[in-house]
Amino acid sequence: MDIRFLGAAQTVTGSCYVIETAGKRFAVDCGMHQGNATIEKRNFSTAPYKADALDFILLTHAHIDHSGLLPRMCKEGFTGPVYCTEPTVDLLNIMLLDSAHIQEMEAEWANRKYARGGRASVDALYATDDAVAAARRLSPLRYGEWIKPAPGIAARFYDAGHILGSSFLELEINGDANRTRLVFSGDLGRPDSLIVEDPARPDMEPVDYLFLESTYGDRDHKNEGGSRDELAEAINHSIANGQKTIIPAFAVERTQEIIYSLFLLQKEGKIPGNLPVYVDSPMAIRATEVFRRHQSYFDSAARNLVRAGEDPLSLPGLKYTLDVKDSQAINLQEGPAVVISASGMCNAGRIKHHLRHNLWRKGASIVFVGFQAVGTPGRKIVDGAKNITMLGDDVEVAAKIWTIGGFSGHAGQQQLLDWTAHFAHPELKVFLVHGEEKAQHILAGLLRERFELEVGIPHYLETLTLQPGKAPRVSLDAQDAAIGDLVPRNINWNVLLEDSEAKLAQLRAALAAPSGRPWADQMEIQERILEINKRMLQIVAGL
Ligand SMILES: [Zn+2]
Repeated sequence: MDIRFLGAAQTVTGSCYVIETAGKRFAVDCGMHQGNATIEKRNFSTAPYKADALDFILLTHAHIDHSGLLPRMCKEGFTGPVYCTEPTVDLLNIMLLDSAHIQEMEAEWANRKYARGGRASVDALYATDDAVAAARRLSPLRYGEWIKPAPGIAARFYDAGHILGSSFLELEINGDANRTRLVFSGDLGRPDSLIVEDPARPDMEPVDYLFLESTYGDRDHKNEGGSRDELAEAINHSIANGQKTIIPAFAVERTQEIIYSLFLLQKEGKIPGNLPVYVDSPMAIRATEVFRRHQSYFDSAARNLVRAGEDPLSLPGLKYTLDVKDSQAINLQEGPAVVISASGMCNAGRIKHHLRHNLWRKGASIVFVGFQAVGTPGRKIVDGAKNITMLGDDVEVAAKIWTIGGFSGHAGQQQLLDWTAHFAHPELKVFLVHGEEKAQHILAGLLRERFELEVGIPHYLETLTLQPGKAPRVSLDAQDAAIGDLVPRNINWNVLLEDSEAKLAQLRAALAAPSGRPWADQMEIQERILEINKRMLQIVAGL
């Protein structure tokens, strides 16, 4: 069996494995790469996916970094089924269209810029039609239900407790003389998070290979139990100062979890019951409707509330603003309010307007409840920036900044170890995915130490060959390495260092030469220089 890592290998986006076995070729997840320009280029380098030769796709959950390249696969000839849970189908119907819209807008914006510079136009990564085609391929199933997408291949989805309908996957491959069992964790949630169940720990036959996410492999979440009280403190701080609380939040799951938290805080009398709360994100509004349709996927506490006639997703002062005009009106209104808006990392969407209007106000609260990736405005604010450029304006950061760890959608370090303990046995082999390098190395060390497991950390585009009774073998195709601009593992390091130095010299010369090169391209060259520098340091450290 061959498994290729086409994303989320030493990074946290672009989740995708392409598996070849039993005469079939299929993918587990098909996520969009998100981050800096070098990473995002991978979205256009989809040749290694061989979309038209994929028989089917198994999808763990609706997040775009796990699903966002489905329309691209359809554009490139994929016509098979995509298996996922019922809520995932409904969420994807919204999210893929939204993603296509963003892709079309970005291409249009780039082409206007390129036309001014006399450059050829570019195609969007995919268009609305491709997203519609992808949505038609979605085939819903329930947790625990065996599916047999091809002879010799069976799969089952279990609750991963990460977002509504999220799952981890058990894959059983039946060869002539042997049976191999693999588990793909997808994104694993935190036990005790609101709305969704805890990650399942089902009984199954011994697992041979576990592909484990490692987003928080290097740390536990801070003050998890006290997060709701911290949220109340942040809101009451802004109320006392006559100001607003602004909460950047991912539209799916996090927004609903915050509404639910406010519902509980009002019930506990910790925040005023008549406080105006705005959910200002069209996607969040539509996602909330999907949540209402799938209450059977809620955890028992939320189901009990619903059964008792309560609605944890509604508040007396809650207003949804679909319209741009209503969104703008929020900032004309004086006095305390809570504004929940996307994007969660402040790099896009309506949240930018709310930050521009409130970041400089002493007494306002800005509350971060999710992961902030390196390079995003959200991360800069969390890291203590005194000023920030928001929609072209230089804005002073005078509001109080709160970072609350206990709303994370991902299991912390100890929770990952606890979940893995359920599957651990001396023969189990673990591969860490979906994590930044440091987090992965720390988690790998702990897994080796605690459970004496064999742990691997795959690279982007590598192929893992699994054969019964033999050690897993990792290889990297040279041609594909060129696409990914990567360093294969088994090569002459001295030659590579010389090559890297030559490449660096070239890039530095390109940057120094006077040219009308657009700013974005210059940034990209800078990023490449940094990346090569980093890689050279790694090579030297490994020599
Ligand atoms: Zn996710």
